[in-house]
Amino acid sequence: MSVPAGEFRRWLDGLAAGGDTLDWDPASEHAEFRAWIASVYAGNGAMTMPWLERLIHERRRDLVVHALRRVKDRAEAELGSFDGPAVTTVAPSDEEPNGIVRCGYGDRITELTSDRVTVTVADRVQDWIARDRRVVWPVCPEHGRGLHAMLDDGTPSWICGHTHHRVSTIVDG
Ligand SMILES: [Zn+2]
Repeated sequence: MSVPAGEFRRWLDGLAAGGDTLDWDPASEHAEFRAWIASVYAGNGAMTMPWLERLIHERRRDLVVHALRRVKDRAEAELGSFDGPAVTTVAPSDEEPNGIVRCGYGDRITELTSDRVTVTVADRVQDWIARDRRVVWPVCPEHGRGLHAMLDDGTPSWICGHTHHRVSTIVDG
């Protein structure tokens, strides 16, 4: 279904202008986010803010759950299966218009694209394994150091702090 580009643009600009309570950026040019918000608009038209916030919350939760499964697959292949970390959510409300999505320890997750969500979730899984399993994971096979989850050329990657080299992607392409 095609949407007049001008209407969509005006709707997004309106969100950006009135969006001081948003924990996401309606003006983001990230291709995955743009495609998603355009498809949501095509299906729903100009939504009220509470309606849109609910869709954003569900989108974020789905991205986190998906990333967690993929990151855990890698970790469990090395460490054996384990029962955490959990994804917990608080639905959007007047007090929390964006709702809350958490994974393991640490603050609410605010990212809204799979690349950034994957990096954050990998960091939370690493943290959970360190605290609950008392194991450093993952480790650089060359230098024996714990790795850091980050975007490397736009790809979620495990980076070794020693000479800053990429050991692997965080999930399979
Ligand atoms: Zn290394």
